[in-house]
Amino acid sequence: MTTSEKNIHQGSHEAPPRHPPDWKGSDFRDEGMLIRELERVFDICHGCRRCLNLCNAFPTLFDLVDESATMELGGVARQDYWNIVDHCYLCDRCDATKCPYIPPHKRNVDFPQLMLRAKAVRFRKRGAGFRDRLLASPDKVGRLATIPVVAQVINAAADSPSIRRKLHLHPDAVLPRCHRTTLRKRRRELVSSAPAATTAADAGVVLFATCYGNFNEPELGDDLVAVFEHNSIPVALAEEERCCGFLRLELGDLDAVEQAREVNIPQLAEWVDRGWNIVVPLPTCVLMFRQWLPLMFPDDALVRKVRNAIFDPFEYLMQHHKEGRLKTGFKRSLGVVLYHLSCRSGGQGTGIETCEILSLVPGTHVEVIACCSGRDGSYGLKSEYHDISMKTGQPVVNTIRQVMPDHFGSHCPKAGRQIESSLANGSKAEHPLTLLRKAYGV
Ligand code: SF4
Ligand code: SF4
Repeated sequence: MTTSEKNIHQGSHEAPPRHPPDWKGSDFRDEGMLIRELERVFDICHGCRRCLNLCNAFPTLFDLVDESATMELGGVARQDYWNIVDHCYLCDRCDATKCPYIPPHKRNVDFPQLMLRAKAVRFRKRGAGFRDRLLASPDKVGRLATIPVVAQVINAAADSPSIRRKLHLHPDAVLPRCHRTTLRKRRRELVSSAPAATTAADAGVVLFATCYGNFNEPELGDDLVAVFEHNSIPVALAEEERCCGFLRLELGDLDAVEQAREVNIPQLAEWVDRGWNIVVPLPTCVLMFRQWLPLMFPDDALVRKVRNAIFDPFEYLMQHHKEGRLKTGFKRSLGVVLYHLSCRSGGQGTGIETCEILSLVPGTHVEVIACCSGRDGSYGLKSEYHDISMKTGQPVVNTIRQVMPDHFGSHCPKAGRQIESSLANGSKAEHPLTLLRKAYGV
């Protein structure tokens, strides 16, 4: 499908392939009904066990069953169900890659949606603690850091062992650094209040910078702009952007997700109407726009329109390549590249184009590591999960140690930082956009 053909599907009335949750309905938030559904699905999972290696939610469930007096789900205390819920970071991989019982199967298992419902019920009942609300508000923290001197204060606080202890943030976790000069400030010339007045099917791309890309790693957006402009693809930034809401989703704060939707979706849809596509450099945010928002708002034509125009940057570049428009005059080879495919990319079937594009660079051999890094949103930052998170990511780190590549990096920049910290040898993860820019020499 060409980029322009993809646009043809914008605004289609095709329903998401899953049953959308009735998240505003009273049944969805009824704790008794939730517990009965958890029992039903956990029992099916206990009998199936295909997802044992995907994340720590399933091993937690299976250990609880196996260590119970009856060795059946009935022997597990219901309050322990919440331990399972806490280990789910809504990556969607169990549903997308493993489960044979998803609808229309009559067993009707949608594990990620059930975890979301549990999180929403708990959030409605007791809210969230300060640490979890802070971690779920990267846009608020990032905006605060743009005030003179505040970025240094926040970064110093993030490094302080006593503050970390108080907030239950692990002493070794790699917390994102704040920048006063955000991407949107650095690339002010790209910010536009209105899409260019064109009805061309493929006018260019509007970059949804993401909170991480705007506030924490603005160089990533610079690399994206350099690569796209080198390929004569116009890049713009929408006038306003809110956090996509994924970290709020992980908390179960669905009203906050709806508030973010009200800012982002109408203006992105307007860009799409003018022939622009949308590129999003973080797999988590792509997952939000492609999967979770359409599930939460199945009748919203604007959400569908945006979903159909969202591209991972390398997905977009691959379409460009298939149309014979990608420049392949590279100035520098990259040697051996180890590329980590994040869980949230794997769950959506994206990320493999990154390997294909980097492989176009002469003298470059790309190997993919498709294992979880363990970083997963805010999961790997929390004191109670950091050690599990590091253990989960160990196969990625071991592979890099064994292969000793010329470059390594992850489709997810946050995962890249966790991997380099685990390596602890001074080497730096390089995002594939950074590597492609290097290969182009621009
Ligand atoms: S959605 Fe992801 S984190 Fe949650 S249970 Fe499934 S595989 Fe595990
Ligand atoms: S989510 Fe599906 S595939 Fe995974 S353990 Fe449960 S029933 Fe099996």
